[in-house]
Amino acid sequence: MAKTLPKVPVVIVGMGWAGGIIASELTKQGIKVVGLERGKKRSTEDYYLVHDELRYALRYELMQDLSKETLTFRNNSKQTALPMRSLGSFLIGEGLGGAGVHWNGQTFRFLPYDFEIRSKTVERYGQSKIPQGMTLQDWGVTYDELEPYYDKFEKIAGISGEKEQNPMVGKRANPFPTPPMKKSPILKMFEDASKKLGYHPYMMPSANLSEPYKNPDGIERAQCQYCGYCERFGCEYGAKADAVVTVLPVAEKTGNLEVRYYANVTKVLYDGKKATGVVYVDTQSGEEFQQPADIVVLASYVFNNVRLLLQSKIGKAYDPSSGQGAVGKNYCYQAQAGKAVGFYDDREFNTYMGAGALGMEFDDFNGDNFDHSNLNFLHGGGIRISQTGLRPIQNNTVPKGTPKWGAEFKKQSLKYVNRYLTVGSQGASLPWQQHYLDLDPTYKDAYGNPLIRLTFDFEEQDRQLVKFMAEKAGEVMKEMKPTHMEVSGELGPYSIVPYQSTHNTGGAIMGADPGTSVVNSYLQAWDAENLFVVGASAFPHNSGYNPTGTVGALSYRAAEGIAKYAKQPGMLV
Ligand SMILES: Cc1cc2nc3c(=O)[nH]c(=O)nc-3n(C[C@H](O)[C@H](O)[C@H](O)COP(=O)(O)OP(=O)(O)OC[C@H]3O[C@@H](n4cnc5c(N)ncnc54)[C@H](O)[C@@H]3O)c2cc1C
Ligand code: SF4
Repeated sequence: MAKTLPKVPVVIVGMGWAGGIIASELTKQGIKVVGLERGKKRSTEDYYLVHDELRYALRYELMQDLSKETLTFRNNSKQTALPMRSLGSFLIGEGLGGAGVHWNGQTFRFLPYDFEIRSKTVERYGQSKIPQGMTLQDWGVTYDELEPYYDKFEKIAGISGEKEQNPMVGKRANPFPTPPMKKSPILKMFEDASKKLGYHPYMMPSANLSEPYKNPDGIERAQCQYCGYCERFGCEYGAKADAVVTVLPVAEKTGNLEVRYYANVTKVLYDGKKATGVVYVDTQSGEEFQQPADIVVLASYVFNNVRLLLQSKIGKAYDPSSGQGAVGKNYCYQAQAGKAVGFYDDREFNTYMGAGALGMEFDDFNGDNFDHSNLNFLHGGGIRISQTGLRPIQNNTVPKGTPKWGAEFKKQSLKYVNRYLTVGSQGASLPWQQHYLDLDPTYKDAYGNPLIRLTFDFEEQDRQLVKFMAEKAGEVMKEMKPTHMEVSGELGPYSIVPYQSTHNTGGAIMGADPGTSVVNSYLQAWDAENLFVVGASAFPHNSGYNPTGTVGALSYRAAEGIAKYAKQPGMLV
């Protein structure tokens, strides 16, 4: 029997970027918040002098414990989904700061086109350009409406970027708060090559600080040391922005935030009109609690935001055969397979150094920045070079034809370790009627609740897009004059095994129509006005950029909505 606790004004499920932003904005306004986090407390001190690749990058110390909870996966609804028993395709976060602790920090804004993708596609190419089964939707918010929230997120995180307005992306009201990262020699090579081809390269906006910075909340942080142990690691300098070093200390200082760790939320309590609280298990004692609240915020990442809605029977579950219902709909991923690798027999680069978001990119083939009239795909992707550092165990890029083990493999690995460069791409992922999230009918987690089931595969749209991106990446690489190069533009069926990207989106999507979306533009649930579902679960599709800049912006907008709601309840739109 669950123990019922005293009611609180706001309960937030999950203490990553999304939960942290909401907590800081509300507590600053004097609103009392309880944060429930299934993982443990983390701080910068945890990462002092531990550049341990095995522990963090290969044994996933900061990520979700799959022995307690995972998801099941299948490529299509004719298959039986099976549990993901080891981390692979994506690396879900757990503990204070969530996946923000081990992210790279590449912090983009989506394009104005993204937010009105359906309308703008129809306007430019006609209705028939959208293929049968592609469930493309506008977001119910425009880039201009979201711009002030992007600005706020960038200032709080101290995002580093170029001063000049990039002509390929939406207009900025203010320049980036800190200057760009250092332009290393390989970035300069990419810049020169892509400029020669007529493209518009720019330094990647970075949450790895380019210089010491004090944010508008008075939080001071040190600059990045280009240590190269960034993606999959916490930052021992506090130079990588995450919720733990930016927004959560501000919330804690107000005295209005209480975080409970090892608190695994299993259900939202729902009376048919409103959320009345949540149920959680203390995973250390096994004790179950009911936490009543005036406002409930789900910030537990895509998979659990959707799982908790389905489990709590809030909103109409998506039915892929009829297309009716919205909870679970429009799951999207990304197509990152298009790339060109150049090998340099006569040059070495110091690529062992780097930072999670040290890179250059151009957007000439992103969004609708180019004419799709004669192309058999929509959207596009960023074409980029990154210098994230080389880790000794995982980095073994060798020319095709090299044996996978043995003396020759070792010889080639050592020869090329600092002699190869990759121009890659990050292809947008668009929604299809047959890609969705629902509750698995068979498999359960350690607490007896159904796992979330993912049904997803790459489509012909993705294959065409990847092929196109690979050609463009190949042109740039050729211009960078390697001794020899390999272009890969093949995309097989989606496999959950090799790491690709933790850019999962959708399932509790935003929109202007309650019939086709789960939340409105403040991420307020249509079916429970005091429930806010925050994070990339709200994206109706995934763009050709990393998602967290947009998660941050939407979280600030949601926080504003929640504060308004706390004063005057009712639907915000
Ligand atoms: C290796 C890697 C590199 C990345 N690099 C980039 C990048 O360069 N740029 C970019 O834009 N994005 C990047 N990302 C993605 C980025 O990390 C996420 O978009 C971002 O962290 C999402 O924030 P969130 O708060 O929505 O979710 P999370 O960070 O996942 O936080 C959710 C929190 O909720 C908790 N939780 C979940 N379920 C429950 C429950 N039932 N009860 C209680 N608590 C719960 C989790 O433990 C977690 O702490 C990267 C991700 C990874 C893994
Ligand atoms: S590369 Fe920079 S931001 Fe990343 S972990 Fe190292 S010092 Fe921190």
